Amino acid sequence: MNRRVAVVEKITKANDRLAEVNRALLARHKLASLNLMSSPGAGKTTLVERTVAGLAGKYRLGVVEGDLVTSLDAERAAAAGAESVQINTGGSCHLDAGMVGDALGQLPLADLDLLIVENVGNLICPATFDLGTDHKVVVASVPEGDDKPFKYPTMYRGVDVLIINKIDLLPYVTFDMDRFRSGVAALNENVTVLPMSCRTGEGLDAWLNWLGDQVVRTRARR
Ligand code: MG
Ligand code: ZN
Repeated sequence: MNRRVAVVEKITKANDRLAEVNRALLARHKLASLNLMSSPGAGKTTLVERTVAGLAGKYRLGVVEGDLVTSLDAERAAAAGAESVQINTGGSCHLDAGMVGDALGQLPLADLDLLIVENVGNLICPATFDLGTDHKVVVASVPEGDDKPFKYPTMYRGVDVLIINKIDLLPYVTFDMDRFRSGVAALNENVTVLPMSCRTGEGLDAWLNWLGDQVVRTRARR
């Protein structure tokens, strides 16, 4: 047996057990949750800020921010009005379920309606670590180029919502929307695709509506 494969399998199994613990905790609080993933600079934290502001007065948000170092993003989420916790992974390029479990222990889960876990900016390994959240959301952005679904298929395969951010830049960069979307469709026919500009606010309402549906649906669960 290939030794490297065996080690990866063992790590994944340990992670999956902790993800189930997180899932049970979130279910007990009837808390809708998502794992937000993207490459660095696609606009995850700006999306978090817009989301917190857009749902203010309606839903209370908890945000777990994953970064190698600094608490800059947790500060931005808190300034926008969320309850936030920063995870510093040190060298690790992804969040795992154990880290998220520790962060959940620091949040007032009973007071929250929605939990967003912002993963470390990386299009590779975050896709393979289940965190125990309900939904996987990927933020792509127009300046990254239309070849990303072809080069990072794992990231697009298991995702529930794909946001295509920075559409206000479409006139200025080379990005073939049809090529990008057909690449995604070949990997994942069930994904909800939401073109958006967090800068102008275009497309934000569709996202906020989708989130509202998840909150309602999660509360109705027995
Ligand atoms: Mg960020
Ligand atoms: Zn990693």
